[in-house]
Amino acid sequence: MVSNILVINCGSSSLKYALVSEKTDELRIQGLAENLGSENARIKGITPTGESFEQNVPNADHEKALTIILNGLADHKPDAIGHRIVHGGTISESVLLTEEALKRIQDAIPLAPLHNPANLLGVKATQTLFPDLPQVGVFDTAFHQSMPAHAYRYAVPKFLYTEHNVRRYGFHGTSHAFVSERGSELAGAKNQGGWLTAHLGNGSSTCAIWNGKSVDTSMGLTPLEGLVMGTRSGDVDPSLHNFIATNLGWDLAKVTKMLNNESGLLGLSGVSNDMRTLMEAADNGNEDAVLAIEVFCYRLAKSLAGVSCGLPKIDGLIFTGGIGENAALIREKTVGYLGNLGFNISKEKNDSLKRGTAGQVDAGTGPQIWVVPTDEEGRIAQETRAVAKV
Ligand code: ADP
Repeated sequence: MVSNILVINCGSSSLKYALVSEKTDELRIQGLAENLGSENARIKGITPTGESFEQNVPNADHEKALTIILNGLADHKPDAIGHRIVHGGTISESVLLTEEALKRIQDAIPLAPLHNPANLLGVKATQTLFPDLPQVGVFDTAFHQSMPAHAYRYAVPKFLYTEHNVRRYGFHGTSHAFVSERGSELAGAKNQGGWLTAHLGNGSSTCAIWNGKSVDTSMGLTPLEGLVMGTRSGDVDPSLHNFIATNLGWDLAKVTKMLNNESGLLGLSGVSNDMRTLMEAADNGNEDAVLAIEVFCYRLAKSLAGVSCGLPKIDGLIFTGGIGENAALIREKTVGYLGNLGFNISKEKNDSLKRGTAGQVDAGTGPQIWVVPTDEEGRIAQETRAVAKV
C-alpha cells in the first residue's frame, strides 16, 4: 500500500501543510493558511492537479482552515498525520500523540511559550477532524537528545537544571538529521563518521553529528543561542540584559524582544533580515550590509569550529536551508575562515552548483563540503510512517 501523510506545521496564526506521498516522484500538494483568526485569513497553495490557488477565508480558525484544505485534497486522503512540534523537552524520538505525549508537550510550554501552544492547536484540530487516524509528533529537539551532558549543561547552579529543566536542547533537529543522513549517503558513508551541518534559513543553527547522532549543536534552551540569524542576535554577553536595563531603563520583555526580533542581520545592517536583499545592498556598496554578511559568516565558522570539538574526526561539512542552499558567497566566505581545519572550497564548483540540487563543492583536499537541500516535510512524513506503521 502506498501511504499519504499529511504534515502539519502549526503557528499561532498560520498553518503550513503538505501531503507527502510515498512515491517520491509524485507532486507534493502543499500550502499555507495565514492570518488565521482575523478578517484577512487566507489559504494559498497547490491543488492536486498542480495549479496554484489562493482563497480568502475571513475569520477562519485552524480547524475551519483545515476542513477547507482537506476538502480540496479530493481523493488524496491522508493515512496518518505528522505534526511538527517545536519542543519535546527530553522526548528523544517521534511518538504517537497519546494523552501522555500531549501532556509532555504541554509541560514543555514554559520552554517554548510561543510555539508549543500553537502546535497543540493543530493537533486538536486534526484530532477533531480525524478521530480515527494515527497522529504522530515529530520534535525539533528530539535529534539532539543524544548530546552528552558536557555539551548540554550550562555552568549555572545545578537546581536550575534539576528543578527547572534549564539545559541546552537544540532545534532544527529534523533538518540536521535529514541532511546529515543524505549528505553522508551521497558521500558513500551513510550515517558514518563525523559531519558538521549548517542549517541557514531565517533561523540558523549548526550541528555536529557522529555516526548519525547529534553530539552538539549551536541552539540552546531556546532558539536564540548561537548563530547570527535574520532577526535574532545569537550569542551575546549574558550581562547585556543587565547593561541595557541599567543604562537604558528597558524591562526584560523589551530586551528579549529586541534580541529576538530586531537584531541579527536586520539589527546589524539596518537594511533587512533577508539575506538576498542584504547581498544586493552589499553589491550596491552599503557598508552596513557588507559588515552584517561578514559577521554572519565569521560567527558561523566560529560555531562550526566550536561544535567540531564533539567529533573525533571531521569527514565533512553540509550546507542547507534557504541561505545554505542558494548563497554561494556565504559558503565561500564561511569556509574561508575554516582553512585551519583543512577545509578548502572549489570556487568553480561552488559558484556553478545549480540551485535546489545537492552537490559536492570542495576542492578535493581536506574534509568534504556538500550542499544538500533540506526536506523537513519529507523527513516528518518518513518518521510518521514509521511510528504509525502505515
Ligand atoms: P525558513 O527558515 O523560514 O524556512 P528559508 O530556509 O527559506 O527560511 O531561508 C530564508 C533565507 O534564505 C532568507 O534569508 C533568504 O534571503 C535566503 N535566500 C533564499 N534564496 C536566496 C538566494 N538565492 N541567495 C541568497 N539568499 C537566499
